[in-house]
Amino acid sequence: MVVYDKGIRISGTRLHLDAQRVVEFSFVSHGHTDHLRSHRRILATAPTVRFHQLRGHRSEILQVEYHQPIEIEGMRVELLPSGHILGAAQIFIERRGESLLYTGDFKTRPAATCDGLEVRHADILVLECTYGRPEYRFASTEELLERLARFVQDCHRWGEVPLVLGYALGKAQEAVYWLNRLGERVYVWPEVAAICAVYREFGRDPGPYEVWSGGPVDEGVVVAPPHVLRTHAIWGLGSFRSILLSGWAVDRSAKYRFGVDEAIPFSDHADFDELLEFVRAVRPRKVFTIHGFEEFAAELRWRGYDAQPLEPGRDRWLL
Ligand SMILES: [Zn+2]
Repeated sequence: MVVYDKGIRISGTRLHLDAQRVVEFSFVSHGHTDHLRSHRRILATAPTVRFHQLRGHRSEILQVEYHQPIEIEGMRVELLPSGHILGAAQIFIERRGESLLYTGDFKTRPAATCDGLEVRHADILVLECTYGRPEYRFASTEELLERLARFVQDCHRWGEVPLVLGYALGKAQEAVYWLNRLGERVYVWPEVAAICAVYREFGRDPGPYEVWSGGPVDEGVVVAPPHVLRTHAIWGLGSFRSILLSGWAVDRSAKYRFGVDEAIPFSDHADFDELLEFVRAVRPRKVFTIHGFEEFAAELRWRGYDAQPLEPGRDRWLL
């Protein structure tokens, strides 16, 4: 049912799934820049279309809601929430009695600012496995939020500005939401503010914030993407302490790699256990893994699944 040719295409159709090169027609699972290209035509949810256009991409749009079944080249197609960021979708495809589920980026634990993942049984599962190694097991959301709260309180006590770093799209809005819940005054980098406005527009308001593009901050917390550490704006902030929100925080070297004072594995992706739990719930006959550790497919085979990684750069017919 799928062809892999530097990306996934549904065999016998023009529909690609998150194509990495410009194609005639692609499903776009979500608005992270590594998934956006100026394809001639895209299939996506309304928030993903907004992010696509915010990044300056121009395509013909086939916009659908979650759970709105449509017919494409003889297939029944439906988008389901993937729990990753606002508008992020899995695609569920049925054709001639066979079904396929492609996750895009996903996570199983609930998020505060986007719809939660939906599980649907499928014969074929194409699964992203970014954190598909057993060492990538994240603490509970409650515990991670406690660590974030402790970090912020310690900064206040020591007279340092807490600088919370995470992707501008998704992670930053979760941070703004939780910091507001902690009663903090929140400042955000302009790029984060632009995306918060889209969240608000789609009814997922992360809460109040003020825009910070440099200069001192007397009281409150700054939320920004990690690259802010390499800008001049950071010089005016005064004494600050940084914390990175990323699944890679599990690696002891992450702090040094990202040049931050602390890191906690607050992630928009499924951890190792969540990946396994998801595969169990989908009950697929065949699993293909993408974007992540290839060993995860072996891990699944060891657990009795028919699983294999999709190999970039090889044009192969599958099923
Ligand atoms: Zn993503």
